[in-house]
Amino acid sequence: MTVIKKIGVIGAGQMGAGIAQVSAAAGYSVVLSDISLDNAKAAIEKIDAATAKLVANDKINAASRQTILANMTAAGDLSALGDCDLVIEAASEVEAVKKAIFKELCPLLKPEALLASNTSSISITRLASSTDRPEQFMGIHFMNPVPRMKLVELIRGIATAETTFKAANAYAIDLGKTVTTSEDFPGFIVNRILMPMINEAIYTLYEGVGTVESIDTGLKLGANHPMGPLELADFIGLDTCLSIMQVLYEGLSDSKYRPCPLLVKYVEAGWLGRKTKRGFYDYRGETPVPTR
Ligand code: NAD
Repeated sequence: MTVIKKIGVIGAGQMGAGIAQVSAAAGYSVVLSDISLDNAKAAIEKIDAATAKLVANDKINAASRQTILANMTAAGDLSALGDCDLVIEAASEVEAVKKAIFKELCPLLKPEALLASNTSSISITRLASSTDRPEQFMGIHFMNPVPRMKLVELIRGIATAETTFKAANAYAIDLGKTVTTSEDFPGFIVNRILMPMINEAIYTLYEGVGTVESIDTGLKLGANHPMGPLELADFIGLDTCLSIMQVLYEGLSDSKYRPCPLLVKYVEAGWLGRKTKRGFYDYRGETPVPTR
């Protein structure tokens, strides 16, 4: 089994930063990369600020924070990932983007290096087939926010070797996560169930059945969900939600998964949720205000 000591993370957005943080906290040496060094450095600055808050609130001690920061480096391209034992791709949920990354990355990797995608929905088998190492490729699907959410969903592609699965499983457990295993079908388990609910909440808004507030309050107080579905969609990112619905719709060839036109409209407007400060809520002021 490949011994994992050094981890590369590609994509320094909300997920990549979270994966880097928990991996560094568990003692792995981590290279966090993005399309520019500035993006990667900005993500590490956010981790710096977030962990300072954790220390202030007595959630972690100052030494643990120092370990996290000392174990992470930023990179603006893939060349720094050549000596990693495991590389986790957490770039945008666009198949062509992920495949282009693997094409550039594979020739740089050690032959024994393992490769994983944090994709929410895209076929692991298809992504694996675009690499030079389908046996050493699998899905390691973290939940958002990574440091707080306990689950990691593991997905084998058709060619994934048992040794690869065991190494990924051991890594996730080492991070203190609970693992579930899903078969490689669109959306796996979590998003196969979660995303149609979010899409239905958006249809409910689109058809005028309720307002943003009544839909979110309805599910929070009526179904005991910690966040309303529209609030959650903003948290995930509306571009990611739309991509996942498209993967479900196309991959399962069933009209029940068609993305709501209102979701498409928000994404076309660039209103992607919290990350752009506007989605079903406007986050530019002190408190979030519904946008419909
Ligand atoms: P995000 O938009 O916050 O971040 C994506 C990052 O990828 C950005 O920093 C972008 O600059 C970078 N990127 C884009 N193209 C790149 C390239 N060619 N090379 C390197 N970096 C590149 O998105 P996110 O929410 O962090 O999602 C990332 C992945 O994680 C997606 O596959 C998504 O489906 C998955 N995921 C998301 C969530 C969630 O709740 N948002 C949960 C689980 C899994």
